[in-house]
Amino acid sequence: MRTLASVQTVNTVEAIPNADAIEKIRVLGWWVVAKKGEFAPGNKIVYCEIDSLLPERAEFEFLRASSFKPAAGELPAGFRIKTVKLRGQVSQGICFPLSVLPDGAPTTEGADVTDLLGVRKWEPPVPASLAGRVKGGFPGFLPKTDETRVQVLEPVLARHRGREFFVTEKLDGTSFTAFWREGAFGVCSRNLQLDTTDDTSSLVRLAKALDLEAKLRAFAERHGYDVAIQGEVIGPGVQGNKYALAALELRAFNVFDVSAHRYLSRAEMLSAVYELGLTPVPDLGTLTLDHGVDELVALSEGVSGLNAKAQREGVVLRPLVEVEDEYLGRLSFKAINPKFLLKYDE
Ligand code: ATP
Ligand code: MN
Repeated sequence: MRTLASVQTVNTVEAIPNADAIEKIRVLGWWVVAKKGEFAPGNKIVYCEIDSLLPERAEFEFLRASSFKPAAGELPAGFRIKTVKLRGQVSQGICFPLSVLPDGAPTTEGADVTDLLGVRKWEPPVPASLAGRVKGGFPGFLPKTDETRVQVLEPVLARHRGREFFVTEKLDGTSFTAFWREGAFGVCSRNLQLDTTDDTSSLVRLAKALDLEAKLRAFAERHGYDVAIQGEVIGPGVQGNKYALAALELRAFNVFDVSAHRYLSRAEMLSAVYELGLTPVPDLGTLTLDHGVDELVALSEGVSGLNAKAQREGVVLRPLVEVEDEYLGRLSFKAINPKFLLKYDE
C-alpha cells in the first residue's frame, strides 16, 4: 500500500512571487503551498500526498468547499487532496501540525500514519464493462504493474546517479497482463485474473483480436520458457480516450520470464514485443541520471507521442539493464506531468 500520510520534516520554505498571504514549502520532493508563517524549516509535520481522501473530521472541515467527495463504491465520503495551482505555483499535498495525530501516535520521521488518521486512497470508479467476469485474484507467479512517484525517491536518485536510463511515455489507460504458463493462457486486469470465456470483457476481446494465446504459446515453445506480457490498454471507453483513438490498443511495457521469475531487460523486451507482433509504449530516448526530483518533473512535461493535442500523463524511467534497489525493489519509477494533473485529475 502506498503511504499517503506520514510524519515528515519541512526542508525549506520559499516565497511565491506576487503572493503575500501564502508561500511554498518543500516536503520530501514535493512543493506544497501553505499559509505564510505556518511552517518553518525543520518543523515536524504530517504530510498527506495527492490522492489522499481525508475523513470527515472537524479538523478537515475547512476543505469541504474545495474538496468534498460523496461516498462512492467502497470509499466513504471525505475530502480529496489533488494537485492545484495557486498564484502560478503548483501545490501537491497538504501539511498539518503533529497535533492532528491521536495521542500516542508515532512521531518519528517517515512514520506511516495513513491508517491512524483514517486516510484512504481516492480512486476514480472503474467502468465494469472493461474487465467483465472475474476468474480469481491476480496470479501469485506474476508481479502486478505499479510505479512509484519520483517525489518520494530523492535518496534513490542519489544512489543511481550516473546510471543509464531509458524513458517511456506513461500512457493513461488501464493495466493489462496476458500470460502463458504451464500450458494455460490467462488475461488479467490491474488486480484480477479475468474469465477468458467472457466476451463482454473488452480486455478479453482485445486479447483475442491480438491472438495473444497462440502467440504467447508459440513464443514459449521457441524460447523454452513461460512468458507474460504487460502493457497499457488505451482507446474508446478507457479514461476518456484522451488520445482520441478509433479502437482499443495495447502498448507493451513489460515482458516477464515466468519460468525464471524475471523481467527481460530493455533490449530483450523490445525484441520480444516485436516478435509477438505488438507495439511498445512510446520511446522518449535515454539519459544518464544526474537529475533531482524537480528536473525529472520538468522532463515529464510535454504532449503525448500518440496525439499532440493531449498532454502526456508523464514518463516512466528504468535502467537499460534491470536493477534491484535496496529500498524500491525493481528500479523503475514515474514522474507525472503537473499540467496533466491540473487538466484531467477530476
Ligand atoms: P499511485 O501508485 O501513484 O497511487 P496508481 O497505482 O494508480 O497510482 P498509476 O499512476 O496508474 O498508478 O501508475 C502505474 C501504472 O502505469 C502501471 O500499473 C501501468 O499500468 C501504467 N503505465 C502506463 N504507461 C506506462 C509505461 N510507459 N511504463 C510502465 N507503466 C506504465
Ligand atoms: Mn500504485
